[in-house]
Amino acid sequence: MLLEHVSKFDIFRPKCDSTKEVLHAIAQIEEDIAPALPYVHAELGGWDYDRHNQVLLLKLSPGKAITLQPHEIAIRGCRDQEEAQALLKWIQGQINEIYERRDQITPRYSSQAGLKVMEILKLLPRTNCKACGYTTCMAYAAALREGEISLQDCPPLWEEKYREKQDKLQTYLESFGWRALDAD
Ligand code: SF4
Repeated sequence: MLLEHVSKFDIFRPKCDSTKEVLHAIAQIEEDIAPALPYVHAELGGWDYDRHNQVLLLKLSPGKAITLQPHEIAIRGCRDQEEAQALLKWIQGQINEIYERRDQITPRYSSQAGLKVMEILKLLPRTNCKACGYTTCMAYAAALREGEISLQDCPPLWEEKYREKQDKLQTYLESFGWRALDAD
């Protein structure tokens, strides 16, 4: 098992705004989990991976994220202490389980963070029709980049006349390992 020992787990309110109804948590770990990061990135759809500094950011939902570093797990935006404990247990399990079967996984080094809003925008119908619920295609493109919505949320994109754009956009997103925040 790669990750067995959590030496310290601090759960706290963010100092920048102690009125916020969320908690952050940081676990110090004895083992070096860096070798697992590209595999965890591939399996869980990490949002940003800094290969040089060995930092992986996993966005779980808007405002909730886990950052993994060689000897640290940082959790942002927990509802309460129970959720912080549960998320730590979950990510520990994921790291160990994924690392165990790393021989069957292609490690991933590219990041969703590399996606450009303007490149996404170029591949949308750009009619600002508002059918997606956003007032402009630009706003939709920005939300899509963050994984907050999916391609299906832009109905015109699925019309035959935009088929080529839709194919290209799908390919572009996939090349960065894009995944919606609520994807399984
Ligand atoms: S539905 Fe599509 S075309 Fe219409 S505003 Fe939204 S992103 Fe633009």
